[in-house]
Amino acid sequence: MTTLKVTVLGATGSIGLSTLDVIARHPERYSVFALTAFSRVAELKALCLRHRPRFAVLADEAQARVLQADLHAAGLATRVLVGCGGLCEVAAHPEVDVVMAAIVGAAGLRPTLSAVQSGKRVLLANKEALVMSGALFMQALQQSEAVLLPIDSEHNAIFQCLPTDYSRGMAAVGVRRILLTASGGPFRKMPAEALVDVTPEQACAHPNWSMGRKISVDSASMMNKGLELIEACWLFNARPSQVEVVVHPQSVIHSMVDYVDGSVLAQLGNPDMRTPIAHALAWPERIDSGVSALDLLRIGQLEFQAPDDARFPCLRLAREAAEAGGTAPAMLNAANEVAVEAFLGRRIRFTEIASIIADVLEQEAVGAAGCLDDVLMADQQARRLAGDWLGRHGR
Ligand code: NAD
Ligand code: MG
Repeated sequence: MTTLKVTVLGATGSIGLSTLDVIARHPERYSVFALTAFSRVAELKALCLRHRPRFAVLADEAQARVLQADLHAAGLATRVLVGCGGLCEVAAHPEVDVVMAAIVGAAGLRPTLSAVQSGKRVLLANKEALVMSGALFMQALQQSEAVLLPIDSEHNAIFQCLPTDYSRGMAAVGVRRILLTASGGPFRKMPAEALVDVTPEQACAHPNWSMGRKISVDSASMMNKGLELIEACWLFNARPSQVEVVVHPQSVIHSMVDYVDGSVLAQLGNPDMRTPIAHALAWPERIDSGVSALDLLRIGQLEFQAPDDARFPCLRLAREAAEAGGTAPAMLNAANEVAVEAFLGRRIRFTEIASIIADVLEQEAVGAAGCLDDVLMADQQARRLAGDWLGRHGR
């Protein structure tokens, strides 16, 4: 068996580390080609010493020089590259077989697109990239040899429950609707009045999953589910009305597909991202992920509830952006990124995340997303408007 060379974009993050954990279990199948990080230099250095990649990428030139000298002194031949150019280079490098796209936010868009355009097997965790550039991203996929496999646990579950020709459209393959499950996050039972005072620490303490801070806040506001709704529409050629959100607090069913004959297929498992990562790495084969077997007798009960749009308006805002199309999802995403950062920096209240996004979407008209520049300009404009809001109301 030839070993597949893997680039891990966002190697120091929660998904990046889980990916390296799965890869390390199968040295005969996978080798690490490149590892990238934003600012955690010490962590990236430790990962390089362990996995000995051909390339490492950092955002800052001076930090990259120090890392290069350190790795050289340690006897490694790893070359350290810098910035977005470096990320795109290791995503598109001719020797790379697999790219794990696990950078958080819009920063991952260009490198993820580069991987798609160069025909890689692309493991997509970076949902923001697809939400922003939807049609362009899917067009690039069709025009290349790339294979796109979803890492988001819900989308990985849906992928596993759909027939292989799902790109023909949901109705054509006999699907009535996709049931996108949501844990409901840490504030699922919190009364609306109390949401005003929640802290970043509370928002980041997810009941079932251990994740990066941005997606943890998104899960608490349910914007994560909103982004996932848009993601599902692009990945599976579905209309927003064909995707229904179901709150399922145990996070054991990772999503379901409801067929016209009344069959509902679900994928279940412990809430551990190594399962979808291993699935996508080995697809269509199966490999050990290190995740323990599901113990249904211990879990005992599975519950389902309707989402509450009144307490979690982000879900509604995302659905509206999905229906509006064009640049609306890119604006929604950009406003949300600015708002989440402001919340984590204690400049705004939790409930103001939705206020900022609604304000930005009201002010800026939706345009066509015909090329990447349209998307990037909408992203920049939404960030400016969100910044103005912070200037007026933020602390
Ligand atoms: P994280 O914050 O733990 O890690 C993010 C990674 O991206 C880090 O390696 C960081 O160095 C890098 N990064 C951040 N900003 C960057 C920038 N400007 N330029 C280059 N690199 C940058 O995040 P995470 O939880 O691992 O999530 C990563 C992505 O996967 C997100 O899009 C998230 O929505 C998605 N996702 C995560 C989970 C999960 O369980 N953690 C589940 C589903 C989807
Ligand atoms: Mg998810």
